[in-house]
Amino acid sequence: MKVSIGNLHNMCEHNTLFLSRARIYFQVNGHAVVDEPDVPDLFFFGGCAVTDRMRARCEEIILESMGDHPGASFVVFGCLAAFPERLLASAGLHGTTLRIIPFAESSRLDDLIHARHPFAVVTANRLHGHFPYQPLMGPADCYVMIAQGCINACSYCNIKKAKGQVQSRSLEEIGAEISALHRSGERIVTLLADDCGSYGLDRGTTLPELLTRLCQSVPDMRFKLFTIFPGLFLGYAEQLEPFFAQGRLPYICLPAQSAAPRVLELMNRAYDPGELAKVVARIRALAPDTFIYSHFIYNFPSETWEEFEQSIALARIFDHCVFIGYGENSATRAAGVVPKCSARELALKSGHLGKLIKQGELSAFLVPIA
Ligand code: SF4
Repeated sequence: MKVSIGNLHNMCEHNTLFLSRARIYFQVNGHAVVDEPDVPDLFFFGGCAVTDRMRARCEEIILESMGDHPGASFVVFGCLAAFPERLLASAGLHGTTLRIIPFAESSRLDDLIHARHPFAVVTANRLHGHFPYQPLMGPADCYVMIAQGCINACSYCNIKKAKGQVQSRSLEEIGAEISALHRSGERIVTLLADDCGSYGLDRGTTLPELLTRLCQSVPDMRFKLFTIFPGLFLGYAEQLEPFFAQGRLPYICLPAQSAAPRVLELMNRAYDPGELAKVVARIRALAPDTFIYSHFIYNFPSETWEEFEQSIALARIFDHCVFIGYGENSATRAAGVVPKCSARELALKSGHLGKLIKQGELSAFLVPIA
């Protein structure tokens, strides 16, 4: 069978890793992955539902492709598959066959293609077709997925709907994959999860315990921590200090999202930005070469200009960060937060950020609207 893989959000490391894995999966099961102008037998899309706007964009592309390829077979996989309503309403359009397969149901793929090698056992460690947006994270990295889902409940996030509660891989499974990568010559691995801080909390273990095991089993391997919820990181900070001091953690992302306690409360992100700043200073003292990255959401409903400026001030303690303009997601609790900030406020704030970045006064990548 000929399969085309459509990555509708190639900035997302998770989506891209899953599609990179799918590429290997189809190939090891004897199918060919093709690109245009080759016409495939199966269209396999990985899409995003992080905001209403992003979701609509992904749905449009899929519906258009269904219109261009009457009678063809389509699979929608991943986060977008958790919001199937609009796509399902178009199922059968133009005689097409549409299957919606969320992450947790990947075994349905095995039935579909009569897989000898189940999706669950196929791994990928490199991102195929990724669009990097941060300095030290991209296609050159070697990724190992440690968990999916998350224990937190940020008001603007629909990861829970897309992936559910945290599901961690076992210490042994991760250890075996990393030992194999070490034997193949890798010396730096990126530990990937929706929140590395949630790792193991569904299995009676923790991230520090995982790192202890890994650092003992592969003494000259270093680990990038893709992202950690600051509230959980503050709880683990002391346990993680030795790993920083030994230079085993060259990269960490601590997504602050906002520096304003009132906004953090509306986001349902319980931590003190002041404590976060102290811990960042502590890491710098222990490990001056560690790259500390962050994410900020600006123009969150009711955010004032002063609160926006607070976030910019906090952003300066990090080596680099991404500023993302708030985009509504009607499937989240944040959709109920009012008053909304206007499009004009978004434009003013984006302009201000753009100027600071251009003048070298802020080290950041700007995504005006998600
Ligand atoms: S920590 Fe991240 S993945 Fe988890 S709910 Fe918050 S934003 Fe979503």
